Amino acid sequence: MKFTEFGFDDRLMEGIEASGYEDATPVQEKVIPLVLEGKDVIASAQTGTGKTAAFLLPLLHRMLSQPHNEHSINALVIVPTRELAIQIEQNLEGLSYFTGMSSIAVYGGGDGQAFVQEKKALSMGADFVICTPGKMMAHIKMGYVKLDQLHYLVLDEADRMLDMGFYDDIMFIIKHLPAKRQNLLFSATMPPKIRELARKILHHPSEINIAISKPPEKIIQQAFLVFEQQKTPLVRYLLKDKNFKKIVVFCSSKLSVKQLTRELKRFRMPVEEIHSDLEQEKREEVLMHFRSGRIQILVATDILSRGIDIDDIDLVVNYDVPHDGEDYVHRIGRTARAESDGTAYTLISPREQRKFAAIERLIGKEVPKGKLPDDLGPAPEPGMPPAGRKPGNRRQR
Ligand code: AMP
Repeated sequence: MKFTEFGFDDRLMEGIEASGYEDATPVQEKVIPLVLEGKDVIASAQTGTGKTAAFLLPLLHRMLSQPHNEHSINALVIVPTRELAIQIEQNLEGLSYFTGMSSIAVYGGGDGQAFVQEKKALSMGADFVICTPGKMMAHIKMGYVKLDQLHYLVLDEADRMLDMGFYDDIMFIIKHLPAKRQNLLFSATMPPKIRELARKILHHPSEINIAISKPPEKIIQQAFLVFEQQKTPLVRYLLKDKNFKKIVVFCSSKLSVKQLTRELKRFRMPVEEIHSDLEQEKREEVLMHFRSGRIQILVATDILSRGIDIDDIDLVVNYDVPHDGEDYVHRIGRTARAESDGTAYTLISPREQRKFAAIERLIGKEVPKGKLPDDLGPAPEPGMPPAGRKPGNRRQR
């Protein structure tokens, strides 16, 4: 379905075009018309499905087409993490660029200046407030937050918020909202506690389920928690296993593909690389050599994760954690095709732990973690915070 078919406001269509969206994703196709009708919605959808635009676009359209109070908060989007708040705000900024709507992301960990800006926006009104629960609750307790004209509430990644222990904070915030409002709840999974939350918050919601792709059961999945500098030695170690005949190692960037290939070649491994910097002819040649078994190991970007049919790959190694669950499923789905079994290893650096946990939630299973060989030194502790992360400071009114 094309975006032009939803009947969106022209100013919104400009933002959609500028963002490069043409066709709606499945979750957008289902959710947008319901939100435009004013219905409450509960949707199971993961990151990567386009769920953010599925709620932002119809809410923006409703605000543009109905009178709304500029001196209040009109829509509140509650999310589990600062990263998600920033990401949604950026997405919103792009989509609403030509609409004149105002927005602010409110999350913990900011400095005094951020707090002053947040206080100003929350007391003078903003069309969209995207917040983490704890920080929003802290502001509400101070008494200046203008919520009396709020029309729209979105809970995003609700299952994760409950896992993180935000239930009480969420309920506290909701108690301060007008009873008459439209509610949207998005969650990757629908365990009973989410249904319970939905019963408390939503009114006769329409339910949307987007089928989750899962990797075939017969793929043996294993993951290793490693420091970044241990990744290449670990790949070398894993590739030494003589049981694997045809191996693909996925990296998220061309640069890591090139570096890893160089390193493996240094150890005289039968390896080639494939990525978008190669001419089409060269790519085809590499694929031909890989298919025929002339080279045993292919180091690839996600260029290879979808649609390329090579039947007898028996090992996939994720040198880094894929961007989202769909990419993970596509990457490891390269193995265990047809009758054969397959193995998939994923290397997780401390800063990738959270991303991998989200993937595990998507596929509905915890991937067993392997032990590093002794000569690689100690592995990071699970849950270790990534070093050198600076708090984001983007804010906009
Ligand atoms: P989300 O699942 O909301 O995190 O979105 C995942 C990514 O897909 C984001 O980078 C969005 O900007 C992008 N996206 C969302 N909807 C569309 C669409 N209809 N067409 C192209 N890209 C999209």
